[in-house]
Amino acid sequence: MGINNKRRYRNKKINKISGDIMDDSKVLAVSKAILEYLKEIENENSILNGNLLLDEEKEFVKKNMNAFIIGLIADQSVKVEIAWSLPYKLYKRLNTFDFKEIVQKYTIEEIEEIIKTKPALHRYPSRMALYIYCAMNDIIKKYNGDANNIWLNRKADEIVRLLEEFKGISHKKASLGTMLLIRDLGINICDKQNVDIAYDVHIRRTFLRIGLAQNDIQDEILESARKIYPEYPGKLTTAFWTIGRDYCRPTDPTCLICPLSQLCEKNFEKTKNIKS
Ligand code: SF4
Repeated sequence: MGINNKRRYRNKKINKISGDIMDDSKVLAVSKAILEYLKEIENENSILNGNLLLDEEKEFVKKNMNAFIIGLIADQSVKVEIAWSLPYKLYKRLNTFDFKEIVQKYTIEEIEEIIKTKPALHRYPSRMALYIYCAMNDIIKKYNGDANNIWLNRKADEIVRLLEEFKGISHKKASLGTMLLIRDLGINICDKQNVDIAYDVHIRRTFLRIGLAQNDIQDEILESARKIYPEYPGKLTTAFWTIGRDYCRPTDPTCLICPLSQLCEKNFEKTKNIKS
């Protein structure tokens, strides 16, 4: 069966589950449909367990929590693959990932040059060098050189708050990072209800078009996700992000084969100004 036929079959199944109840139980219908869809795509789209990165890049981040923070910082304005392969590639260029050694040996400008060297490791080398350098210093000073100490024995709301203290980590990235700790690294965090969906461009576009939010305002989108899956809103990040990237594209969305097509208001007007 071709990939499009497979998708049509899968989406037909999901839309059948969703039924015709979108008018009076939209939240419930979306919740069922999106969780069903998530089951099918979660593994293939897992950053640290799926096929987006090379094995050595994944292993490096999974075994080195300091690299996890650098990957999270780099996850901005570039593809996921570029962001999360940066820690390993930076390590190869520096020949070490010992933060104390790096901050003693290099300046921010030198790190920028290393990131910038072709093929560049990121679209914004100057900004990344600053964020990475600051994160290295913060981890040395506040966490005894080990990023594990950020989440060890902590609740989700504290972890999100501590991640947000890093330069270059917004609430969106802190929520994403906490979700990845749970999903890809198996970190046991009890209060998953405090992990929000990531306020990402693909997710914002999808929420507005479906009619799950009326305005592109972070609080409105986060609140809507909390209603869809109150137990763990951050779990929805992967599913909505994938729909936004693969179906609900800025131009030429593929509504006919979209898993949420029957539940969607297709409010295209609302998303014409969403850029990033
Ligand atoms: S049906 Fe179309 S507009 Fe609605 S979420 Fe899917 S791709 Fe986007």
